[in-house]
Amino acid sequence: MRFATLARQPDDPLLRIIGQHAADPRADKIDLGVGVFRDEEGRTPVMTAVKKAEAILLETQSSKSYLGPEGDIGFVRALGDLVIGDTVARDRIVGLQTPGGTGALRLTAELLARSGVARIWIGSPSWANHAPLFRQAGVEPALIPCYDVNSQRFDLDGFLAGMDGAAAGDAVLLHGCCHNPIGIDPDAAGWSAIADRIAADGLIPVVDLAYQGLGDGFAIDALGARTILKTVPEALLAYSCDKNFGLYRERTGALFAVSPDAETGTIVLSNLLALARANWSMPPDHGAAIVRIILGDEALAREWREELETMRQRLASLRAMLAAAGTIGTVDLAAVAGGKGMFATLPLTPTQVQWLRDAHAIYMAGSGRINIAGFNTAAVARFHAALHDMAA
Ligand code: PMP
Repeated sequence: MRFATLARQPDDPLLRIIGQHAADPRADKIDLGVGVFRDEEGRTPVMTAVKKAEAILLETQSSKSYLGPEGDIGFVRALGDLVIGDTVARDRIVGLQTPGGTGALRLTAELLARSGVARIWIGSPSWANHAPLFRQAGVEPALIPCYDVNSQRFDLDGFLAGMDGAAAGDAVLLHGCCHNPIGIDPDAAGWSAIADRIAADGLIPVVDLAYQGLGDGFAIDALGARTILKTVPEALLAYSCDKNFGLYRERTGALFAVSPDAETGTIVLSNLLALARANWSMPPDHGAAIVRIILGDEALAREWREELETMRQRLASLRAMLAAAGTIGTVDLAAVAGGKGMFATLPLTPTQVQWLRDAHAIYMAGSGRINIAGFNTAAVARFHAALHDMAA
């Protein structure tokens, strides 16, 4: 009997909040917890371009026979062209399809472990899954506190100083854009400084790009990742299509590896394929096939870009609305305007977060992280009123 040796693991706190929100009978409840895009009506719709691509897939797919551990190669190529372009010589890049951005990060962690990387430096706070994911694969996370929740700023000097502890061959994790959970990214000069530092110290960058198109625009959102990739000999780019194509449960992502030369790249890919086989054999097909169809069809690609841009603008205008109230009590909402993407973290104590839930049916993560897309115009006004009530 072995199971009795297992220790019970804590529930995912965000899933608990989702359950509490669902059970709350108050009609005007607000869900700022779960990290999915929502429209003004609170829905997370299937994008029109995705629906059209699904119709094409239904018509044209002639087999559901196995692909390989690399997944849909047409998808990987189209995505690589779009995201990396000619930033790096093509023969230095290899890629494969993965189950979501999480799958790409899991392969990253295992490849790093296999390459003898013992440690990954992560600016904190970070996405709650980063540290456990790397630790489970045998790469120890080393946290660098550098996102200040009170001022909602990224402390570049603090991040660079934190890297003083890194040894050559350590990895560094970077959020490509729309930082989760703070919403603040380095500016162009900051990206250059980080890239130069990584190159000078012989570190391996891992860029996690999960929200491209939801920050400053599709092209601009890749500039940080591109700056890193073109500055270093070796890098990994974990990509998720789950937010910018609205494909969440289809688990659509890819991992790209940049190597010093084509020969090394071939060896890297052979390792990634072996790791993929041992993890999931091959990734789920549907989401990647949809993305391939969209990117390969000019009209569909345009339609997808326009829908994505509408989503981006909705987030930006909600940020402006939230920020317009300035500071309420101790909470500086003005800073939210400077952020990008779906998330911001407000300087609220767990007690205040609980009070907002109990008194006003406003649900957010215990850390004070809010999903900007969980608001609509009425909810912003309710939120401002609730903060005034809390300050009173
Ligand atoms: N990286 C970050 C920063 C994320 O926020 C997320 C999703 N919440 C992911 C990666 C993983 O994305 P996916 O759902 O495609 O696995």
